[in-house]
Amino acid sequence: MPKQGTVLKSTGSWYEILSPEGEKLNARLRGKLKIKGLKSTNPITVGDEVIYDIDPLGEEESVVIKDILARKNYIVRKSIKKSAQAHLIASNVDQAVLVVTVSQPTTSLGFVDRFLVACESFRIPVTLVFNKADLFTEGAIEYCEAVMDMYEELGYPCIVTSVLEKIGLDDLKNVLDKKKTLIAGHSGTGKSSLINSIYSQKDLKIGEISSAHNKGKHTTTFAEMFHLDDNTYVIDSPGIKELGLFDIEKENISHYFPEMRNELNNCKFHNCTHMHEPGCKVKELVENGEITHTRYASYQSMFEGEDYKY
Ligand code: GDP
Ligand code: ZN
Repeated sequence: MPKQGTVLKSTGSWYEILSPEGEKLNARLRGKLKIKGLKSTNPITVGDEVIYDIDPLGEEESVVIKDILARKNYIVRKSIKKSAQAHLIASNVDQAVLVVTVSQPTTSLGFVDRFLVACESFRIPVTLVFNKADLFTEGAIEYCEAVMDMYEELGYPCIVTSVLEKIGLDDLKNVLDKKKTLIAGHSGTGKSSLINSIYSQKDLKIGEISSAHNKGKHTTTFAEMFHLDDNTYVIDSPGIKELGLFDIEKENISHYFPEMRNELNNCKFHNCTHMHEPGCKVKELVENGEITHTRYASYQSMFEGEDYKY
């Protein structure tokens, strides 16, 4: 009897599937699956809902993927090898959580904005988690509040957490509950500690994919999804460079800034880049404070294609 499962992991030739009974199975793909409208180097990705069956002709019992259910969405980047094709990173992603820290390590707002732009381009909502609140000095509290106000106003919910002092863990659990969440943030911000303490896991480590990635070679990296609870998953992905941000046309970057996108028709020139043109509505809003300087600086840096250090 064919069953429906969720793809947790892919190596390119084998797929780890979670069965309806909660069992992890190794499956493979027999023949080719045609997927409408998307040319990708990998046919199946983490997050896919698939129909699988036990192959009766197999020498041992072997699990074969027969079909993929329609994807709600997917995250892709250009394939390194075949530039006309896409490489699927994950599918059916409900949301992203970006874990940031004011210190140890410091997360720059430029990094946050790049991540937000990437998620906007995939239409994935983002919650920002400010972890290590126990380390906040008075200055850090003030800074953090101002930053959270800014992002909340743009439509990105913010949560303050501390694993050490058990602050905000229920709030984060509520955000994650019954969803497939892409989790991101610099190494050392506390992603693994947060997940392990909320779901009483012991040794789940998030971020190993990114850190092990690409030491001089064009290795293909795949995301991995962890099953935490009933219908609750986190997706550990490669770094944001692999999130496809660099596939966005320069001219379209402003579409992914919520505070800019509704104003774009109000610039004097329809092809305004919002960098130096006269009659630019975006720059007017920066000058009168409706668009913050830090967000505009992130826009400029992305537009100029500066290699961002993070
Ligand atoms: P990851 O790389 O993002 O998964 O980060 P880890 O979960 O491995 O945490 C990195 C370090 O930060 C570890 O030494 C944790 O104990 C520490 N850490 C995590 N959360 C907190 C927190 O809320 N407060 C403090 N002070 N340290 C934390
Ligand atoms: Zn403009």
